[in-house]
Amino acid sequence: MLPFLRSDLAQLVSYTPHLGGAAPAAHGSPAQAASIDRLDTNESPYDLPEDLKQKLAWAYQHELEANRYPDGEHAALKGAIAQYANHSARPVANWVTSAHISVSNGSDELIRSLLIATCLRSEGSVLVADPTFSMYAITAHTLGVPVVRVGRDAQTFETDLAAARRAIATPATGQPAIRVVFMVHPNSPTGNALTDAELDWLRSLPSHILVVIDEAYFEFGQQTVLAELPQRPNWVILRTFSKAFRLASHRVGYAIAHPELAATLEKIRLPYNLSSLSQRAAELALAHQDTLLAAIPTLLTERDRLFQALAALPGITVWPSAANFLFLRLQNDPADETLENLFQSLKSAGTLVRKTCGGLRITVGTPAENQRTLDRLRSQLLPS
Ligand SMILES: *Cc1c(COP(=O)(O)O)cnc(C)c1O
Repeated sequence: MLPFLRSDLAQLVSYTPHLGGAAPAAHGSPAQAASIDRLDTNESPYDLPEDLKQKLAWAYQHELEANRYPDGEHAALKGAIAQYANHSARPVANWVTSAHISVSNGSDELIRSLLIATCLRSEGSVLVADPTFSMYAITAHTLGVPVVRVGRDAQTFETDLAAARRAIATPATGQPAIRVVFMVHPNSPTGNALTDAELDWLRSLPSHILVVIDEAYFEFGQQTVLAELPQRPNWVILRTFSKAFRLASHRVGYAIAHPELAATLEKIRLPYNLSSLSQRAAELALAHQDTLLAAIPTLLTERDRLFQALAALPGITVWPSAANFLFLRLQNDPADETLENLFQSLKSAGTLVRKTCGGLRITVGTPAENQRTLDRLRSQLLPS
């Protein structure tokens, strides 16, 4: 190892983007790419419609200046996000303003900024409930921030609240107390939304603990804690344009937070973290949200159809989901061998899914993709 590198980074396992090396999209011909069903990263299966791409291309040709730095304040985009956030609340809110918003290069960037703003200099540890989104722990480790893991109920995936309370009450020896709790609502990879008991526990946390509620999949289930934010200055919501808004390639995420936290996130981020094109793409997506979000009912119908069909297959457990993916596990597979075989055979048949947390997370794709997923799983799991 190079002697100037931090010694703890040798052990760091980084996030694996597109298991299998992104080969189909990056290096294959479009025809090859089309023959692989990429159901491993919870993107929308639908690209931006042609006319919106043309609008964006027109803006790039005639309005955006490639030689100029982008708007480092994200002023137009923040205004549009604040309006969208207000309308996403039930009942509709009116208090979200640009001062409550920080925009980032994917919400991944915000995860890092939040950790920088709270836990660095050994000032805090983070709490996660496994299985959950791996980026929280990975990002914490890159910053040398300790991670405390608690479990979830094996059937419902509700957080083990007794363990969480204990972890907060008694920090491990030599470690700073927990200062940030990360929760996904609904959780990835398991698809369950926060329960009343989990929400009550989050409400009970003291004001010196930051509660991060990651609503990356908000648009699929419409569940949000936004209405509670004005009473809870220690809560922050993360959202993204990478899923329902079909803009994963543009890397746009945002936080909705108390103005003082939003201002701090703005202070510590890189000055030009988002290209002009990405900012414009997100503005365009919000301006055409009705068109883009119109795909969601079909995805939800497809998700429920896929769920029913998977639940009927022998030897697997599949969980209901409030998002655009399903999580399944095999019932008798102590050595993980059958799961690995299933994962590999799906992959060689042309369906990429994510093998994670002892199961498979399968993104809901187009009806044709979902049908192929089912056919391929059936041919593996049903006796011939
Ligand atoms: C996909 C996802 C995100 C979004 O990440 P981006 O960096 O905005 O693409 C954030 N949190 C969770 C739980 C996710 O699944």
